[in-house]
Amino acid sequence: MNARSSFRAPLLTAALAVALGALTDARPVMAVEPAPPEIYDELTEEQAAEADQFTLNNAIATVFHEAGHMLVSEFSLPVLGKEEDAVDGLAVLLLLEAEDEDFNSAVEDWANVWFLSAGTKEDEEDMAFWDSHGLDEQRAYATVCMMMGKDQKRFKDFADSIDFPEYRAEECIEEYQSQLNSWNKVLLPHEAKKTDKTNFKITYAPTKDPQLAYFREMIKSAGVMEMVAAAFSGSYKLKDGIKLTATECGVANAFWSADDREMTLCYEDLLNSAQLDAQWYIDNPDGEEETSEEE
Ligand SMILES: [Zn+2]
Repeated sequence: MNARSSFRAPLLTAALAVALGALTDARPVMAVEPAPPEIYDELTEEQAAEADQFTLNNAIATVFHEAGHMLVSEFSLPVLGKEEDAVDGLAVLLLLEAEDEDFNSAVEDWANVWFLSAGTKEDEEDMAFWDSHGLDEQRAYATVCMMMGKDQKRFKDFADSIDFPEYRAEECIEEYQSQLNSWNKVLLPHEAKKTDKTNFKITYAPTKDPQLAYFREMIKSAGVMEMVAAAFSGSYKLKDGIKLTATECGVANAFWSADDREMTLCYEDLLNSAQLDAQWYIDNPDGEEETSEEE
């Protein structure tokens, strides 16, 4: 029996490959208005470029997470367990099944952002045990588990760098397959025919905030929303008119609204990722790895 079912990977990979062209030269095109985040003043040029890439990677992972909510709501999919955990899983599956190095890096940075975010919450009081999402560290480790479930060789260094237990990595192989099979099963009836296409309405709303304008430029030139459209049009039978909106929100977040059939990615969410990564560089001036193994 061939246990390795594929997650409609050929379809997605083809669509994503198209969208990826833009990703590789994703440095923001600087117009007059946009200004990099102030915290970049404390970074080297190279670190700032890394923080940009980190931010873009997380924007990609975030829109795939929101796309998970989109599929659940558009197709009224059954979700057993927490929907937030489920769509985290779907986002990571989609990215990993594309088997593309840019997307592999996006998944690594998606794990990193939760570790970084967890590090900003030192007190137990800051831990939102009541939240609909898992705790930041749980989201990080769940992502690493999927990486190890997909490809232990590729992600070994990453897993080692956070001391991910070997016994856990072994369990992750089956858990990954189980998630893959489950999503395949619920999505199967909604797969598009070759000729099916979905028209999305993409908007990158203008902003007067120079720092937010910087991130608007970044995701616009990288075509992050176009990537979502390319990945899902022709893959699943989604009805026309879904809005993919990047905008200033007043809060660092991203949302799916079932009523409005609209995905919203807030520029503030990107600024937040950039600041988290920049702060890491500032706190770790000697670079790369934290030497947690000192005897
Ligand atoms: Zn969510």
